[in-house]
Amino acid sequence: QHYLSRIESLDRRLNSFITVTGEHALAAADAADAARQSGQAGILAGIPLAYKDIFCTEGVRTSCGSRMLDSFKAPYDATVVEKLKLAGTVSLGKTNMDEFAMGSSNETSFYGPVRNPWNTDLVPGGSSGGSAAAVAAGLTPAALGTDTGGSIRQPAAFCGITGLKPTYGRVSRYGMVAYASSLDQGGPMARTAEDCALLLNAMAGHDPRDSTSVARAVPDYTQSLAEPLKGLKIGLPREYFGEGLDGGVETAVRDAIKVYEALGAQVIDVSLPHTRLAIPTYYVIAPAEASSNLSRYDGVRFGHRCDAPTDLMDLYKRSRVEGFGEEVKRRILIGTHTLSEGFFDAYYKKAQQVRRLIRQDFLDAFDKVDVLMGPAAPTPAFELGNQADPVQMYLQDIYTIAINLAGIPGISVPAGFAGDRPVGLQILAPHFSEAHLLNVAHAFQ
Ligand code: GLN
Repeated sequence: QHYLSRIESLDRRLNSFITVTGEHALAAADAADAARQSGQAGILAGIPLAYKDIFCTEGVRTSCGSRMLDSFKAPYDATVVEKLKLAGTVSLGKTNMDEFAMGSSNETSFYGPVRNPWNTDLVPGGSSGGSAAAVAAGLTPAALGTDTGGSIRQPAAFCGITGLKPTYGRVSRYGMVAYASSLDQGGPMARTAEDCALLLNAMAGHDPRDSTSVARAVPDYTQSLAEPLKGLKIGLPREYFGEGLDGGVETAVRDAIKVYEALGAQVIDVSLPHTRLAIPTYYVIAPAEASSNLSRYDGVRFGHRCDAPTDLMDLYKRSRVEGFGEEVKRRILIGTHTLSEGFFDAYYKKAQQVRRLIRQDFLDAFDKVDVLMGPAAPTPAFELGNQADPVQMYLQDIYTIAINLAGIPGISVPAGFAGDRPVGLQILAPHFSEAHLLNVAHAFQ
C-alpha cells in the first residue's frame, strides 16, 4: 500500500513505471502475509519489487519500451521472475526503459523519458532508467535491470543507488527480451549491496532453458558481506582516469578509494591497454546481434502489425517502420551492414578478435590485483533533451562496455556527489566472484 500510494502521487512526474500492477501486488502481499503467519516465509516474502519492462511476465504487458510490443502479453514468466515469485516477492509492476534497451538516458522509450528524482531536469541514465529512478525515489525498495553495455551500472550511478551486473551466465536470460545475446545479463538494483546480495541469492543459478547459463553452485551472497578488507589489492586502471572524465566525478571516486585505503586496502596502478577499442568493438557486436534478434518482429507472429497490408512485403516493411523507433532502426541498419557478405570479416569477425584482447586485459590485471575500481560513467547525470548526436551518447559507455565484452561482474555503488548530482564508484572483479564484489561494496556502505 505504501509503495503503491507513492507511485500514485510521484510517478506522474517521474514516469518510471510503464505498467503498475496494483491488484496483483496486493493479492501477492496477502499471500506473503499468510505464508509468514504459517511460518513458511523466506526472507524475501512480501518484499515489493519492480521489473524492467524487458522481463516477460505472464499475462502482464512486456513492452520493452517499444511501440512494437505495446500490446504484447507474454504467456509465461521469465526464469528470474518465476524464481523471485517463488521467493514470495511482490511485483509492483514494470519499469520504463530505453526502447529494446538501446540507450544511455532513457530518452528512446516509446513511453516518454524518465526523470531523475534528484533533479527532474536531468536524465536517470539508461537503459534501466525506470528501475533506477523508482528505487531512488522510494517507489520500490528494489528493481531488476538488464545490462548489455552498462544499463544497470550507469543509471544506478546517475540515481545514487547500487546496481550489480553479474558474470555473464550467472543469471538466466530465459524470458528476457534479447538485445545482444552474448552480452545481456539481468541483475538487481537496490539501495545497498546487502539488498543486491539477497536478490542475487534468489536470481542466480543454472537454467536448462538458457544454454549460456552456467551450472555452478550459487553461494549465499550475504555470508561474506562483512569480511574484513585488510590486504585487499585494488587496481586503478590508468585508462579510466584520463581525458573526458568530469572533474567532480573524479574527485568523488578518488575520495571513495581513500576510504578503502583507510580500511587496509592497497592501491595499485594497472593498465587495460585495449580500453579505447571497447566502444567501437561493442558498437559492432551489439548492433549485429540486435539486427538478428529483432528480425523476429515481422508483424506476423507477434508485436505491432500495420493496418491493411497490400502484400507480405508491405506487411513486413510497414509493421517495422511503424513499430520501431529511430535508435532501434539505426542499430538494425548498422548490424545488417556489418553482417552482410563482404563486410563480415572486416567488421564482425574483427570485433570478435578485439573482444578477446579486451577480455585478456582484465585477466592480466586480475593476476596482479583482487578488484578494479573507477568511475561508472564519465559524467554525472546530464540534462534531458541533449542527445542530438548519437556518438556522444555512445561515449557515455566508455567505462562499462568492456566489462560486458569480457563477461566479468561489475557493481556501481553511490559515492557522493559531483555538485548536486550523484556519482557511482564502479568495482570490478574476476568471473563468478560476485560474493567478493558485494563484500567490497558493502564495506563502503
Ligand atoms: N548504452 C548502451 C547501448 O545503448 C548499453 C545499453 C545496455 O546496457 N542495454 O547499447
